[in-house]
Amino acid sequence: MNRPYVLNRTSEEKMRKNPAPKKLIEDFLEISHRLRQGGLTFGAGGGISARIPRSSKVLIKGWEVASEDAREKDISLVDLEGKQLNHVKPCLETHLHLETLKVREDIRAVIHAHSPYLTSFGKVKKHLPKGRLRNYPFLNLSTDFAPYADPGSKELAHSVAGPFRKEEVICVIMEDHGVTVVGADLFKAYYRLDILEGMAKTFILTEILLETIKNK
Ligand SMILES: [Zn+2]
Repeated sequence: MNRPYVLNRTSEEKMRKNPAPKKLIEDFLEISHRLRQGGLTFGAGGGISARIPRSSKVLIKGWEVASEDAREKDISLVDLEGKQLNHVKPCLETHLHLETLKVREDIRAVIHAHSPYLTSFGKVKKHLPKGRLRNYPFLNLSTDFAPYADPGSKELAHSVAGPFRKEEVICVIMEDHGVTVVGADLFKAYYRLDILEGMAKTFILTEILLETIKNK
């Protein structure tokens, strides 16, 4: 059942004293570092966010912070409406993260990355012959596509968040830009991104090799 996230005010009161559990901060930094190590994003591009349990507060990567170098001091704290709650300015795609977190209550973590194979795959997916993705059902059915909009814009945030209303969609490929993947927590979102990027890589390399054989 797709229900948007609704704040429980009693829970919000309880979380005021300790807005960000230590474990969530540790997970946040671990996944930030893994993104670059796994070649899933580059430089200061991309970013991750996670909702603090039982609150309307969100941890999100800071402005122009490279994922591999992120430290606790680089994590911004905002509310779901985008109000900055600590001294760290949030990353460029804050609108995208928050709109996506608000779509479904089971979405508690968002990763936006610039993974090259999945991004390239998204560009050609709709032009592939019917049945070509028969052996890649996860890649085929779990991904959707958002047309190009300017980075950091509200238009981009809405075009990315929209497809996540469908429960089966876990990844939205953003035209000529990157991907956004969701999960119940940061690790689940990361594993999804990692496996989808691997599948897209296999698909692309297979297509290239088949083409080489055909033209021999
Ligand atoms: Zn981006």
